Amino acid sequence: MTLINKGTAYWQSLDRAHHWHPFTDTKGLNQAGARVMTKGEGVYLWDSEGNKILDGMSGLWCVALGYGNEELIEAATQQMRDLAFYNTFFKTTHPPAAELAQKIAEVTPEGLNRIFFSSSGSEANDTVVRMVRHFWVLEGKPEKNWIIGRKNGYHGSTLVGASLGGMGPMHAQGGPMLANVAHINQPYWYGDDSGLTEDDFGIVRARELEAKILELGADKVAAFIAEPIQGAGGVIIPPATYWPEIQRICQKYDVLIIADEVICGFGRTGQWFGSHTLGIQPDLMPMAKGLSSGYLPLSAVAVGDRVANTLIEKGGEFYHGYTYSGHPVSAAVALAAIRIMQRDRIVDRVRDDIGPYFQQQLRTLADHPLVGRIDGIGLIAGIALVENKTPKTFFKDGDAVGLACRDHCFNNGLIMRAVGSRMVLAPPLIISRAEVDELVAKVRHCFDLTARDVGLM
Ligand code: PMP
Repeated sequence: MTLINKGTAYWQSLDRAHHWHPFTDTKGLNQAGARVMTKGEGVYLWDSEGNKILDGMSGLWCVALGYGNEELIEAATQQMRDLAFYNTFFKTTHPPAAELAQKIAEVTPEGLNRIFFSSSGSEANDTVVRMVRHFWVLEGKPEKNWIIGRKNGYHGSTLVGASLGGMGPMHAQGGPMLANVAHINQPYWYGDDSGLTEDDFGIVRARELEAKILELGADKVAAFIAEPIQGAGGVIIPPATYWPEIQRICQKYDVLIIADEVICGFGRTGQWFGSHTLGIQPDLMPMAKGLSSGYLPLSAVAVGDRVANTLIEKGGEFYHGYTYSGHPVSAAVALAAIRIMQRDRIVDRVRDDIGPYFQQQLRTLADHPLVGRIDGIGLIAGIALVENKTPKTFFKDGDAVGLACRDHCFNNGLIMRAVGSRMVLAPPLIISRAEVDELVAKVRHCFDLTARDVGLM
């Protein structure tokens, strides 16, 4: 038997031959070889070369409680011993699913009292579409089956998730997309040259929803879906006027509001949900990621009383569900995660202490020649890189600048994501002040390196 040296080259060779990565140009990756991640502890990751990296993105916006949390590990271990799997289809439940459903209802906005489980954010959004359309059929309005989303919104990668989202490159592959989905523009004020004030711009973009509802016919529009703060689209925080106007329009035309809380949920914005922070009263709320701190796949839809009562009282059997709906081990981990968040007052800490500190320290970067604008709240932020601040001039090839910056970060011990030329951050909620200082110092250093690349320094 030959001894295999299980090092970077070994894993890369297996990966190159067999592992097809999501959202990746596999041909390009195979030429370079994937970075092999091997360990996580707190806010840090290590790769197979021994490099220590500060994870400014909580994995993929999910590892809220940081890596290596012994209580979550213990919760999973114990539940695997007690009951590793049972389904929730055939008149059965189990303690973790029942207790987690209650717990989610406790922390979500008032009036959302029924919880449907699935494994991913995408599946949660598939569930939402089936619920919403079925709801309007049961209400005697089967024509009310259009859903309006937003350009640059992200709601997942299943066919339904991709259709609800407004990512052009995703729509361009594997179509046709789901029928009866329309999109309006996003409320990205800094990215626009309308000359409007931020508040006026928020109203104008919200009124695009009204225009779209009237174009399609109010009797045809079932729901509006949006992230409270667009995450994968570059952390786009809408003007303060935006959501109240959206809320007014949806009420006027009896259009349900779906607040996709997959990123904003579970403390990211300094309250339990982005809907709390932005004053949204959703009818349905898909959630995932921070729900289980990413330790195991789990998502849920919190359903408001209006929709739930109709579906439950008039709907008979709901022909929808997944093998892993309410998976006991995932549920046990999520239950433990929420209990830790409550016990350690983690959401309050994000709102009152570490969130404001993070935002304040990030804003020390405003003097950097590359930085056009810094947006953020709690522990989520987006930084627009520009060629010139005034007049505001975006880079012609913003994607390349963003990617160069991201690579500098990775090579200098920081994970920061690039969305075009917006650099985004969402570190674990347990990050300390000293770790925030380290993160911001690394961001400045990597901005310097990027500025040199483009001749700005
Ligand atoms: N909705 C939002 C707002 C998301 O950010 C994501 C994932 N980034 C999803 C849905 C899809 O979740 P998943 O990748 O778990 O399917």
